[in-house]
Amino acid sequence: MPPSKSSAGLADRVGAGDLGAVAEALNQIDDNRPEYRERALALLDALEGRGAGARIGVTGAPGSGKSTLLDALVSELRKRDRSVGILAIDPSSQRTGGALLGDRMRLSSAARDAGVFLRSLAARDQLGGLSEITGPSLDVMQAAFDVIFVETVGVGQSEAEVIDLVDTLVFVAQPAAGDLIQFMKAGILEWPDIFFVNKSDLGDLAQRTVTELLAGLELGSRRDLEYRPPVLCGSARDGLGIDALIDAIDVHQAHLKTSGQGEIRRQSGRVARVRNAISTRYGRFGLERLNGPLEIETFVGAKPECSVERLVDDLGREVEKALGSGGP
Ligand code: GDP
Repeated sequence: MPPSKSSAGLADRVGAGDLGAVAEALNQIDDNRPEYRERALALLDALEGRGAGARIGVTGAPGSGKSTLLDALVSELRKRDRSVGILAIDPSSQRTGGALLGDRMRLSSAARDAGVFLRSLAARDQLGGLSEITGPSLDVMQAAFDVIFVETVGVGQSEAEVIDLVDTLVFVAQPAAGDLIQFMKAGILEWPDIFFVNKSDLGDLAQRTVTELLAGLELGSRRDLEYRPPVLCGSARDGLGIDALIDAIDVHQAHLKTSGQGEIRRQSGRVARVRNAISTRYGRFGLERLNGPLEIETFVGAKPECSVERLVDDLGREVEKALGSGGP
């Protein structure tokens, strides 16, 4: 084994926002060799509960302007002296008509300084589903930065999954995207905490989309009855509405703290992540083996000091035992 610094030491450096340490930590948790698994778990446990980074999901159809918007957000956040991590999810296969993230994400030079860290991950599939490494990568970055963006491409699976990972979800719409009706049908309007209608420089269309969204939101059910998601409008290209968007994110983050919703979301996110991982590894039959003190919600709730990955491994062993003793 190569010499490894202690997990606690590396966690301290990550917590101090050291970009080299963040990169090293991300490599450690992505190392699939079995003999390195415990090192990854020890690191994630050491990082659990550290740092108060705001986890912000940015989602919306391809071409709506997510990368352009992120660039503008990063520049503004740096002016406010906040450190930023970006986790961008790329479709794993080549898509036509769009570049992969390496090309797509052109952070302006102003945004490329010591306070900004960008990591892109392949998506699990063409629908943009998140790969297993997304959650733990975010756990590392959350300890290091003031704000962490998770950018997902496309609509559908990734939106459903990103909900379990973030505190605040920003939905980027483009003017007159006929998608709105589809989003409403799919129930996607229920989830975002902030809507940003981009490309306001295109004129009236943007304002019409704002009106449509507001009407759609009136009809739909809301996830948090004490909070009304704002519908903002702006131009990522021209840097319009960016300040207001950051302020809206701050307002939502403050609401999460004062209402207690933030803690509720983090807890239910942890439970959902463990359940998804167990379900992926062992299927429904595996999930059904877990009951009593091993029921997922109870098990996760009893171990707030453990990382999600640790919980998944521990429960996985229990499932394997149960399957071994009374399998299908
Ligand atoms: P993504 O696929 O959602 O990441 O979208 P991009 O950020 O790559 O933007 C898609 C296209 O829309 C690019 O050609 C951008 O230059 C353009 N775009 C992004 N923001 C704006 C905006 O505010 N106004 C206009 N007119 N175009 C924009």
